[in-house]
Amino acid sequence: MQEITREDVNILVQLQKAETETVRIESFLKKIENEKIGVEKELVTFRTALEEHKNALSQSETLCRETEAEIQMLGERVVRSNEKLRQVKTNKEYQALQREVDDNRKRKESLENSFMQILETKEANEAIVAEREAELAQLSEKIRADQAEIDKKGEDDRALLEQYRKQREEIGKNLDPSLYRQFNQISDASGGLAVVQVKERLCRGCFMSIPHQLYIEVQRCNSLILCPQCNRILYYAEPEENTVKAE
Ligand SMILES: [Zn+2]
Repeated sequence: MQEITREDVNILVQLQKAETETVRIESFLKKIENEKIGVEKELVTFRTALEEHKNALSQSETLCRETEAEIQMLGERVVRSNEKLRQVKTNKEYQALQREVDDNRKRKESLENSFMQILETKEANEAIVAEREAELAQLSEKIRADQAEIDKKGEDDRALLEQYRKQREEIGKNLDPSLYRQFNQISDASGGLAVVQVKERLCRGCFMSIPHQLYIEVQRCNSLILCPQCNRILYYAEPEENTVKAE
């Protein structure tokens, strides 16, 4: 069994305090980093939707242009055919040309009828794109501000984290290297909680009830005692007599 002193235990408890703060701040910084990614996602989704609206607008613009060009072309064709009609010699020729005029006119009328609809769609798409672009500008601004605020929230903690990391290292220097290594291993394996108090005979790491003999050894503080269940370093602290309970 590894021998330790009361002093070692005190150092371990100090080390754990710095470790707990380090882990807490690291987890907080990770959380706010995810928050930043989360708000960025909102922007990406909005941009994707805007791109779809822009595609729809571009399609309706093309359709509008093509329909207009076709209407104009059919109109010119009708005019030309009408001119030719005046010059035809045979009845057969006349009928054929007349049919062509009728067909072109019908097609033109039909296109003119649908053109209003096409134009309305195009204008509606233009309005949507303009509106969404304005919204995107606002959203981008809001998200940049949100992210800056999130960054600011983390600023103090990043500085504090550095402090605790240094503190942890300094405290560690006072420990026997093998004990320090052991602390680090247990901490890595136990979510940053390597040293726990035994209070009312319970391990405060896993809440297992500590066997009587082991409890006495923890109180004696002569050797390194690990919790049989969670494998954390156990220590005993005298109940503070002067503690005044609230209420
Ligand atoms: Zn335990």
